[in-house]
Amino acid sequence: MAEESFRGQSVRSLPRANKRYQADRTCASPGCRTKLSIYNKWDYCWQHEPVHTYVARGKRRSRKEMEAA
Ligand SMILES: [Zn+2]
Repeated sequence: MAEESFRGQSVRSLPRANKRYQADRTCASPGCRTKLSIYNKWDYCWQHEPVHTYVARGKRRSRKEMEAA
């Protein structure tokens, strides 16, 4: 009965934001017991997390870089 009602529904209403991670995690850095947020996707606390490679927003290349490219 309940299964039948699911069949017709679209599957695109999956929540993307607010993804939660395992609770009660602590920082992976040795000796650090900082508790990690369930919203933190990293294994380290904010103090120990490695530098992430991310697309810097708003950063513009200088003219010299543009000319060199
Ligand atoms: Zn830490």
